[in-house]
Amino acid sequence: TSIMAKSKFEYVRKFEFEDRLLPNCWIVVRIDGRNFHKFSDKHKFEKPNDLRALNLMNRAAVTVMEEFKDISLAYGESDEYSFVLRKDTELYNRRGTKIMTYLNSLFTSSFVFFWKEYFNEQKLLYPPAFDSRVVLYPTDENLRDYLSWRQADTHINNLYNTTFWTLINKGGLSNTEAQERLSGTLSSDKNEILFSEFGINYNNEPVMFKKGTILIRKRIKIPDQNKSRLVIVPLYEDLMQDKFWNEHSELLEIKSPPCLIIIIAKLVV
Ligand code: ATP
Ligand code: ATP
Ligand code: MG
Ligand code: MG
Ligand code: MG
Ligand code: MG
Repeated sequence: TSIMAKSKFEYVRKFEFEDRLLPNCWIVVRIDGRNFHKFSDKHKFEKPNDLRALNLMNRAAVTVMEEFKDISLAYGESDEYSFVLRKDTELYNRRGTKIMTYLNSLFTSSFVFFWKEYFNEQKLLYPPAFDSRVVLYPTDENLRDYLSWRQADTHINNLYNTTFWTLINKGGLSNTEAQERLSGTLSSDKNEILFSEFGINYNNEPVMFKKGTILIRKRIKIPDQNKSRLVIVPLYEDLMQDKFWNEHSELLEIKSPPCLIIIIAKLVV
């Protein structure tokens, strides 16, 4: 191939463009399932929240984080996952397309690879695809606002979907009737419908559905042993609050490794 390399064809390389991402910025890669409205329908997802699918998404995200150590945090909801890379990362010389496509393809192949462990007899009917984008956030505030934006989206969608599917499954409404019933309603109206008509207190809904899944690295003490281990733990917390960022202060501090010791954490199932 050295003959080929020196050949007259080699000039085509110059058509490639430099895509080194700006230094000092947080790198966020967001992945989202292609046409999962249909995918979830074809694979008989439970509505509004299929636990198998959410756990599988989390498993795929953990696989990506295990492989790419410069990901400090990931946030997932529905058919999407956001991965945050340390702002000082030199992964692939910060080449945007390399980073984005590796994360996306490893996520997608893991989603397929682990499918059977979560869906058992429900066969994977066709190969799913995910889109992805890479976004740079220059300040810590921008990064926090980005994650708050995604978590607010989780809340709004989940409250809507929970009310929508309750009206259908327990209230006997058709899809169109439920949609009409909810059009123009505020959050408080939806809480009220759930509570007064169906005896459901939205606050008691599973926290993963309400808050999405946050994955971060923590050093865990292994019970009965004098050892500790760095693991990826799922958290279902409000990341809009300062409290979250104070408790996990290593996330925004470039030099400090995740060293907080917590007693026990349930790993992703
Ligand atoms: P696009 O290709 O533009 O992303 P989409 O159909 O994937 O189109 P999204 O806005 O990404 O649209 O929404 C994803 C849809 O997938 C949700 O509206 C929901 O119907 C379905 N979905 C994803 N995850 C789950 C889940 N865990 N349980 C039930 N439904 C889910
Ligand atoms: P990178 O991650 O930088 O791409 P790489 O190890 O994948 O590293 P490549 O230049 O892409 O390096 O080369 C792919 C290598 O994979 C080949 O050198 C060869 O060793 C192996 N390979 C790929 N396809 C085949 C194949 N069909 N049969 C045998 N070996 C293969
Ligand atoms: Mg979309
Ligand atoms: Mg989608
Ligand atoms: Mg989506
Ligand atoms: Mg290769």
